[in-house]
Amino acid sequence: MPDEMQRALIQRGGDTGGRRPLEACVSELDTHIVGILGTGDFSRSLARRLVASGYQVVVGSRTPKHSAALFPEEAEVTSQLEAASQADVVFVAIFPEHHHTLLELKPALAGKILVDVSNGFQIKHGPSHAERLADMFPESFIVKGFNTISAWVLQTGPRDGSRQVFLCSDSSKAKSSVLAMCRRMGFCPVDMGLLSSSAEVENLPFHLFPSWGTPILITVILFIFFYLYNFVRDVLHPFVTAGESVFYKMPIDTVNVTLPSVALVMLALVYMPGLLATLLQLRRGTKYSRFPDWLDKWLTKRKQFGLCSFLCAAMHAIYSLCLPMRKSARFKLLNAAFKQVQDGVEKAWSDEGVWRMELYVSVGIIALGLLSLLAITSLPSVADNINWREFSFVQSTLGYCGLYMATVHTLLFGWNSAFDPGQYRFFLPPTFIVVLILPVTVLLARIILLLPCIAHQLQQIRRGWEKSRHIRFVLPNDDSYNGSDVSHV
Ligand code: NAP
Repeated sequence: MPDEMQRALIQRGGDTGGRRPLEACVSELDTHIVGILGTGDFSRSLARRLVASGYQVVVGSRTPKHSAALFPEEAEVTSQLEAASQADVVFVAIFPEHHHTLLELKPALAGKILVDVSNGFQIKHGPSHAERLADMFPESFIVKGFNTISAWVLQTGPRDGSRQVFLCSDSSKAKSSVLAMCRRMGFCPVDMGLLSSSAEVENLPFHLFPSWGTPILITVILFIFFYLYNFVRDVLHPFVTAGESVFYKMPIDTVNVTLPSVALVMLALVYMPGLLATLLQLRRGTKYSRFPDWLDKWLTKRKQFGLCSFLCAAMHAIYSLCLPMRKSARFKLLNAAFKQVQDGVEKAWSDEGVWRMELYVSVGIIALGLLSLLAITSLPSVADNINWREFSFVQSTLGYCGLYMATVHTLLFGWNSAFDPGQYRFFLPPTFIVVLILPVTVLLARIILLLPCIAHQLQQIRRGWEKSRHIRFVLPNDDSYNGSDVSHV
């Protein structure tokens, strides 16, 4: 760009050398011109959204003639310097490795708001792109944001995709200005504080379900454990001991016994940390001491454990519904009917078997229904619309009912096979016994905590009572005196 042109453009800003006071930019919020540097996918979508929101848009390109046709006609496509000089707020829509090429625009961008929308290629440690941009342009006001919004969402409008835009800046006025723009474009701005948060904002698009790692890992480990356990008992044992090949059970039967096992253990793991926390509070006699880190983390992941449990339970229901459709089930039924005819049995009816099945299925459906309710109320859109009491009623009271029902469902499945020596294949107890260890422990512990003497003490602790601050006055002739009971403030 020729020097004279550059000077002329800078002089447009008057004595301040192209700079306008920030307050002026902010007060003219509704009328200000928005600049975009770069003419790529993001820039084109942003320009469309800005024009649709009533902003005057000027786009800065290295090759304006070449790029103009790609933009709506309401947007002006010009050189980078001209766009930087005209605009009050400038979106930097170019990749961070090219930020340095904008250094020649420094005088034109001084005193203006620069919105850095860039993302890196991987999770970054150390200074963020926005902080580097702030070092390059110390006289501009850097705002980090819009990097979590894709060009597609910008184009289709905020009704689809995520509406949240995370913003941070060291200048509160610059941030307020961009927050207002964001709202006008139909997005929900989220104030992330100072520019030091920009590294966190830049890393947001790289997170892959950050709070799901441990729950998914535990679900997978439990699935592998119970699958192998069931395989050894139900498939390998008949093959080794009687030469009977039942490997056809592996894709459906074995999976269908494994899924409810995982679901029930995962559901018990939802309520286990709450019980451990309660026991710790009772033991310490206070609620004012921190739980160990592992327990804290476990407590925060209960929702994810619950949803993994729900997924396994729902898949178990679908698998169970499909059981009669299988060829193997039809052959088995025919064989049983034929054998019955051969044996001359006219009516094959066992009251015990019928009752067991009716109860087993009914209780299982109730358990799945309660689990569905827990899953639905854990959705933020639903949880935000119920009060704390309603939430804890569903998650705690109904949740325990769900655990109880699922436990009864498993007990009915096992019925009296626990007492049948033939069920201890390779000395391994039936799967349902192994599965029930944790849920039964949780339910028993819960019942013990509901005993009036313990519940009362717990209630006191939850209201702020502390054992170490409790003074017991003892008379000299008090026979019940026991030195260890007395603690002084
Ligand atoms: P793009 O399609 O590759 O466009 C980048 C633009 O930068 C080019 O069109 C080019 O426009 C301009 N540019 C300026 N100086 C450059 C240089 N020295 N070398 C190469 N290009 C230069 O990229 P994009 O997808 O629009 O992304 C732009 C920025 O937005 C990136 O920082 C990206 O991380 C961020 N972002 C993108 C999305 C998305 O969905 N695409 C979402 C969030 C954030 P001219 O040739 O006209 O100057």
